[in-house]
Amino acid sequence: MTVPAAAMLDQAAEAPGLARLVAAAEKEAGGAPPDDGPLYTPRRKIYPQSVHGTFRRIKWALLIVTLGIYYVTPFLRWDRGPNAPHQAVLIDFPTRRFYFFFVEIWPQEIYYITGLLILAALVLFLSNAVAGRVWCGYLCPQTVWTDLYLSIERWVEGDRREHMQRDGRKWTADTYARKAVKHFLWLMVAWWTGGAWVLYFADAPTLVKDLATGQAPFVAYAFIGILTFTTYTLAGHMREQVCLYMCPWPRIQAALTDEYALNVTYRYDRGEPRYSAKKAEQLRKAGQPAGDCVDCLQCVYTCPQGTDIRQGPDLACIECGLCIDACDAVMKKLGRPTGLIAYDTSVNIKRRQEGKPAFFKIVRGRTLLYAGLIAVVGSFMLYTLATRHDLALAAIHDRNPLAVLLKDGSVRNGYTLRIINKRLQQRDFALSIDGPPGTRLDIVGMVAREDGKPVVAVGPDQTRELRATVTHKGSEAITMAPITFIATDIKSGERATTADHFHGLEEH
Ligand code: SF4
Ligand code: SF4
Repeated sequence: MTVPAAAMLDQAAEAPGLARLVAAAEKEAGGAPPDDGPLYTPRRKIYPQSVHGTFRRIKWALLIVTLGIYYVTPFLRWDRGPNAPHQAVLIDFPTRRFYFFFVEIWPQEIYYITGLLILAALVLFLSNAVAGRVWCGYLCPQTVWTDLYLSIERWVEGDRREHMQRDGRKWTADTYARKAVKHFLWLMVAWWTGGAWVLYFADAPTLVKDLATGQAPFVAYAFIGILTFTTYTLAGHMREQVCLYMCPWPRIQAALTDEYALNVTYRYDRGEPRYSAKKAEQLRKAGQPAGDCVDCLQCVYTCPQGTDIRQGPDLACIECGLCIDACDAVMKKLGRPTGLIAYDTSVNIKRRQEGKPAFFKIVRGRTLLYAGLIAVVGSFMLYTLATRHDLALAAIHDRNPLAVLLKDGSVRNGYTLRIINKRLQQRDFALSIDGPPGTRLDIVGMVAREDGKPVVAVGPDQTRELRATVTHKGSEAITMAPITFIATDIKSGERATTADHFHGLEEH
């Protein structure tokens, strides 16, 4: 398995008995021929053992919260008035809107989504700089669903030993029945996962009814089918293979980490040399060195990724902390201090070997940089959200012809105007123009008011497109002049403007 190079070299140089890491370090130093092993190794079925402890409890809590959010959110209601959907979170393709509680994003405002993605990436970088793969270990959907699937598997087929024994024996009717129940439950979870996903794209209660009565659109059934298949395959069958071969984050994460980042670490300075519990006790009594690791393999049996954390950093390790719980339980039984496996840094391992106290440096250049960028991007997004306009005006000049000479000697230009009303009420706008003296604005098919300004009604949460002409009949001929279109809300006086040009005939 590939290992993050910097951390690997650090640990390889220090850890006695870590042959694999030393070999890798030698290779990096140019001392040994490269041997990366196969790019893909056939999957070995992993039977993770259940475990109890602090990190398991944290994972249960996060599993309940994250799955709860995912399955319940489409049913949350949000009153936006009579002209808008009442679903709190809705991606509405027909009207091309994204609703998120009090925020409504129009297609022109896709930059908010871009900003959110940038923010998410920065939060990921920061969490990685502080505490390694916390996202992978606790919050990644692949981890959460796999954890749920493993719980179902253990419930139906038994914990590690029972499950392995049953799989190793000749299969009986009981084995087949248990397998059938497990796969049925897995499929049910996968089906609910796909079902919940499509509810984000339509009114959830209505779509549930339509799905149940067979009246939902085909695309809804198709997506439920696709997501059922992907969830069942990824969480039920591929599991750790997704992290190893499909997900790019472990590789990126390895390049972004440093020696001060907290990672789930086997403290080999304390654990080595390994002996059985009895032998270690005898050696200690005789004043001989003996590490705390008793080679019981509980940390390996518990690992959902099949990793031996004692071999050093590994791309397969998602840093879920379950091996910490397993090892702490062993240490408690042996009457040794807990924390042989713990969140720690490679710097601290070196420091302890030099007899220095542990040292944690969370505030450092990269964490300050990420936190600063999060603050800047977050503040900018909040500012633009707080000051966003619910009225916009755009103009596009006709390309051909740019200008037309009329019988009376005046010159006319054509435009397409677009008024965007983001409010959930209908609004009336008076249109006017600011340009050279003698220019007049007309909206095709519309009579202007007495003051010469055409009035246009735009429906709630809608865009209205209009054909407009600007005619100039001045004493001076114009080559090209800047003009500004203005839309004024008749009730509130709110204005939107857009700049363009008026073209004369001389330039042709
Ligand atoms: S659980 Fe602890 S004591 Fe047992 S093998 Fe793992 S590190 Fe060693
Ligand atoms: S080695 Fe430990 S932290 Fe890493 S995936 Fe396995 S159990 Fe989780």
